[in-house]
Amino acid sequence: MAEPARRIVLASRPTGEPTPQNFRSEDVPLPKPGPGQVLLRTLWLSLDPYMRGRMSEGPSYAAPVGIGETMVGGTVNEVIASNNPDFAVRDIVLAHTGWQTHALSDGKGLRKVDPKLAPISTAVGILGMPGMTAYMGLLEIGKPQSGETVVVAAASGPVGSLVGQIAKIKGARAVGIAGGAKKCAYVKDELGFDDCVDHRAGDFPERLAAACPKGIDVYFENVSGAVFDAVLPLFNPFARVPVCGLISQYSATGLPPGPNRLPVLMRAVLTKRLTIRGFIVSDFAAKQSEFLRDVSAWLKEGRIKYREDVVDGLERAPAAFIGLLKGENFGKMLVRVAPHQAK
Ligand code: NDP
Repeated sequence: MAEPARRIVLASRPTGEPTPQNFRSEDVPLPKPGPGQVLLRTLWLSLDPYMRGRMSEGPSYAAPVGIGETMVGGTVNEVIASNNPDFAVRDIVLAHTGWQTHALSDGKGLRKVDPKLAPISTAVGILGMPGMTAYMGLLEIGKPQSGETVVVAAASGPVGSLVGQIAKIKGARAVGIAGGAKKCAYVKDELGFDDCVDHRAGDFPERLAAACPKGIDVYFENVSGAVFDAVLPLFNPFARVPVCGLISQYSATGLPPGPNRLPVLMRAVLTKRLTIRGFIVSDFAAKQSEFLRDVSAWLKEGRIKYREDVVDGLERAPAAFIGLLKGENFGKMLVRVAPHQAK
């Protein structure tokens, strides 16, 4: 009997924070591979903050998901049927088949994953898109120097955790910002950051200032909002700000209240000669082999660590994703869609 196939589609566009009603689960017929095609079974689905952007219409760097279309997402898949000479049954591949249990592919854009090198889930984590985001944003734009102070928020997540650990490898002081005592303890004690500050604490700006006694030279921007407000007065002259993400604003329905802070920001940009540069990880696609070489070596040498937050079953993807946007995840958010039986 053919195995059951299922997908999760965008049912409606959210206003503000997404809700379970914005998603719909559908049973679908198991697809049959045509000439040159492979049939893929999804093993791991990566849940990432950028998916919030794809749920909304409006100008962005990528097209939104249409209503009734399968939610997009990076995946690790197993080939379960192949009419393509480049792929054999049981091959593991990195793909982008989204929130569904099965998908067809003509092989374009698939990358084989070697299960002997590292756990296959790392292909969408530390050795995948989030890892590369941290590596490129920090080294190409942040350019941390020995003795400088690097600050990053969402510090227990896949991007932030690697930013701080690479900063340490480059001889900088790494200060994390995270939500809650547990995450802060992990960032400091397990990941080896020099300090970590809880952004939910009432006196967060004062605590951040105390953790950065020599000011901030690199601020890797993941969240914006109140965190950026606390960072701004602490910049040293010639500080660099790779703007990677603005998660506190992704579900905003309007501008924040309060006075217009743009003049204060622009004054700091001028007088402190700040470099603020946005980037999308794909801007650095040509340097992927450099990233894989360095980060897999550091991983092998035990110089960097990572943490995964796993939920089982495609049906749990919407709730896990909604939680991710609120900081309920602790580590790289993954859905184990099907178990992987190693060869
Ligand atoms: P995480 O797994 O770290 O999850 C997001 C985290 O953001 C939450 O766990 C939470 O951590 C934190 N957060 C959520 N809301 C707030 C808030 N209001 N204030 C402060 N922190 C908040 O995510 P990733 O590591 O995958 O991604 C980190 C950032 O990088 C995101 O902004 C993402 O969009 C961006 N990104 C950008 C890419 C690019 O190409 N430019 C590519 C990949 C990611 P906590 O509980 O610690 O606050």
